[in-house]
Amino acid sequence: MQVRVLGAHNLETKETHHTCFLVDGVMAIDAGSLASTLGADEQHRISTVLLTHLHFDHVRDLPTLGLATIDEPTAVDVFAEQRTLDSIRAHLLDGDIYPDLTRGLNEGPPSLRFRTIAAGEPLRVLGYDIDPVRADHPVPTVGYIVSSGGTRVGFSGDTGGKLMSFFTHERAPQVLFVDVTFPDRLAERARRSKHLTPSTLERELTEALGAGVKLPRIVPVHRNLAAEAEILKELAAVESSLGIELEPGYEDMVVA
Ligand SMILES: [Zn+2]
Ligand SMILES: [Zn+2]
Repeated sequence: MQVRVLGAHNLETKETHHTCFLVDGVMAIDAGSLASTLGADEQHRISTVLLTHLHFDHVRDLPTLGLATIDEPTAVDVFAEQRTLDSIRAHLLDGDIYPDLTRGLNEGPPSLRFRTIAAGEPLRVLGYDIDPVRADHPVPTVGYIVSSGGTRVGFSGDTGGKLMSFFTHERAPQVLFVDVTFPDRLAERARRSKHLTPSTLERELTEALGAGVKLPRIVPVHRNLAAEAEILKELAAVESSLGIELEPGYEDMVVA
């Protein structure tokens, strides 16, 4: 399994993109930067999108992908919790801001097909085993563990904690992409909006190590651009304090 990091930040600029991943070129985790980072051919190859939650930075490019793939023979399957799908239909593909591409355009077939998932209920898509794992965020949010042929990769989704659900999962991932949005200086903002900081990540990892968990490779993403240097410095301090290695994700990073 090859995972390409399309975006590793919480802001979109020329150089940075919304946190978003592409698995083997065919399955996306979130849709915040699917159009801005991929060529037309690459967009046409996507047949499945797994959404973590409804926040704009995770769904932004879904309407664009839907229009870009409108002439493809099969619709793109979009998996998410019901609340996420309802919100996208009500506010993004509402027939006003954009056409409802789950119903088709100009009498054509639909280009997006919404499919409801639930935390804790595994599914199998394109030969991948997928486990939606409940995250801790102000709106209903799931992370995912994607498994294929003995390789298991986890995506925390936006979360203020609960990483133990990944570490102790029966299909615990070997690699985990983790939301570390704010530096410790903005701990209060992180607490209110339910994102991790280097210190709260350290707390989660310390708890896991204390419980005898073998940690996966941890790849922090969803960084706040304005505080990038501060976050990276604090992550380096967590590495030395715990004696582990963290691998901050970046745009176009490939994890095989
Ligand atoms: Zn969010
Ligand atoms: Zn986000």
